[in-house]
Amino acid sequence: MPETTRYIDLPAMRRLIDKVGVVEAIRGIRDNLREDFGRWHDFEKSPRTANHSDVGVIELMPVSDDEHFSFKYVNGHPKNIEEGLMTVMAFGALSETKTGWPLLLSEMTILTALRTAATSVLAAELVARKDCKTMAMIGNGAQSEFQVLGFHHLLGIEEIHIFDTDPKATDKLMRNLGKQINLIPHSSTASAVKGVDIITTCTADKKLAVIVEDAMVETGMHINAIGGDCPGKTELDGKILQRSKVFVEFAPQSRVEGEIQHQAADFPVTELWEVIADERNGRESQEQITVFDSVGFGLEDFSGLRYVYQQAIELGIGEDLDLMPVIGDVKDLFGFMQPVPARNR
Ligand code: NAD
Repeated sequence: MPETTRYIDLPAMRRLIDKVGVVEAIRGIRDNLREDFGRWHDFEKSPRTANHSDVGVIELMPVSDDEHFSFKYVNGHPKNIEEGLMTVMAFGALSETKTGWPLLLSEMTILTALRTAATSVLAAELVARKDCKTMAMIGNGAQSEFQVLGFHHLLGIEEIHIFDTDPKATDKLMRNLGKQINLIPHSSTASAVKGVDIITTCTADKKLAVIVEDAMVETGMHINAIGGDCPGKTELDGKILQRSKVFVEFAPQSRVEGEIQHQAADFPVTELWEVIADERNGRESQEQITVFDSVGFGLEDFSGLRYVYQQAIELGIGEDLDLMPVIGDVKDLFGFMQPVPARNR
């Protein structure tokens, strides 16, 4: 019976990732994702709940199987950067399903970037052409390095063309990874995406943006669209979807939040698990355009939290919290409170 809750705060997560390495963490989470998406029907799933305001959204993302339950609290506030705060920040927990005991309470801002990169890599492994060597990275903010590292090391992408409307973001990406990976800065999306094998869009603006126009998309491309993840927040010209094969995480959530939110309610999509389980085809030809319309789904956080919990225990990282009561007489919570220890008065 567990008696404590492992707590991974930001410094502990940094220590953990420092020990494991960013690429190995993305690889480990990608492996968990493949396993968890591969047993899709074991999970109780629901679209996340989202509380919207004019400037952003705060979301809760639960999922469970017979052994574990997880949830993530995550926000999306593009204008936060003007206040010196990040657009996306998160924390979450992993619990035992049979008792409800929280095994892990963790920061998830870093973990979200890792699991999003791992999911993008998994989707591209499943449906992009096998001979992809080049990518465009549109939006060079907080998620971008994780995407670039994942695609370079796990998919063999050799050349990455980068663009952001904020040149400082592109300079930051160059500074962080430009010495180890072949990054080529551009002054427009049109120039960055020209002739590449994969386009990753990872921009943040709470509006119906058209970051990638139909005319920019060539046959055989794979589009990894991450930034359109909320009602009223998209990145792709709808015409692209009409001539592509579209893959999603969990259709009931993606139809509300994803690029497909403006398509008909029965617009054909394939869920990633169906490709993993061999129930439906992935890419059907070298010429086909594939789109991963990613919004971020609770099962990805489950896979990520499962990874962090295992690593934290194995590496002895984090602190054990007395978060839940373990008391002699489980009906005497009042008695457990008396007397209050002197140091807490
Ligand atoms: P961020 O604010 O750190 O970076 C976003 C970048 O996009 C900024 O540098 C901004 O200048 C740039 N940008 C905005 N409009 C642009 C345009 N028209 N062309 C080019 N660049 C543009 O945000 P982040 O944490 O990197 O997140 C990026 C997006 O990804 C957000 O919309 C977020 O909600 C989404 N996200 C999705 C998932 C998922 O699972 N699908 C996970 C995490 C984040």
